[in-house]
Amino acid sequence: MNEKNNQKSESGFKGPNNRHNSGMNKKTRPLLIAGNWKMFKDHKEGFALAFALKERLADISTIQVVLCPPFTSLQAVSSAIESSAFFLGAQNVHWEKEGAFTGEISSQMLLSLGCKYVIIGHSERRLLFHESNKIVNLKLKTALREGLNPILCIGETLQEREKGKTEEIVEEQLKGAFEDLTPEDVGKIVLAYEPVWAIGTGKTATPKQANDVHLFIRRKLEERYGQEIAGNMRILYGGSVKSENAKDLLKEQEIDGALVGGASLDLDSFEKIVRSGLDL
Ligand code: PEP
Repeated sequence: MNEKNNQKSESGFKGPNNRHNSGMNKKTRPLLIAGNWKMFKDHKEGFALAFALKERLADISTIQVVLCPPFTSLQAVSSAIESSAFFLGAQNVHWEKEGAFTGEISSQMLLSLGCKYVIIGHSERRLLFHESNKIVNLKLKTALREGLNPILCIGETLQEREKGKTEEIVEEQLKGAFEDLTPEDVGKIVLAYEPVWAIGTGKTATPKQANDVHLFIRRKLEERYGQEIAGNMRILYGGSVKSENAKDLLKEQEIDGALVGGASLDLDSFEKIVRSGLDL
């Protein structure tokens, strides 16, 4: 199995700068581009896509790339990305260590396949599978305790945005998700701001709309956890990121990467999105 992926650490990553520097400076935060494959690609298709991406992006060392295939393709993708700088991520995890939970997957199971990241609180899980902030909090705690890096998704619905409640909603989601977490734990989380109205709809938040919410989130983190944690936290944008709009989004001061759904399933598109993060 892909032991190597288990051994990669945040601090060992060759980013453009040392992300442990304090200060609210984008340059201290290595870009992270994650592909959320959702319920697409069986293990053979997953292997082929991951292997091709690894070949195409072999020259990239300053951007962290995370592939999050479905559970059944994790092993295939893990072997496809062996000897690469890519990281493996899962799309969900259960909050218990083990037990009689039919159909669920534990953190240890993911770690044993070489997973380093796990998406928690995706809006599809919140809306379609009724995951509350409490459940998100339980999952975060377990993932962190077991050694997985969570990519925590937050974001408002269209109705909430139209009612002017975006900030209230993301603040509430953050509070609920982070309950009882130590500042050290919070520092290990990657956030993804994903306005629900932009996911899979082709409607992207404008770079300014996204940047404004990211700035709000960072200020809230600073109030609660201080400048170092807030300044080092990667906040990704997600919601219809495509090769055509990626650069404009990634150029924004507060946007530290992207969580890409649909466009991560296409080799050319995902390659272009990752390359958009170069030379910003
Ligand atoms: C997602 O699934 O997290 C996502 C942002 O999807 P899409 O890029 O397709 O909008």
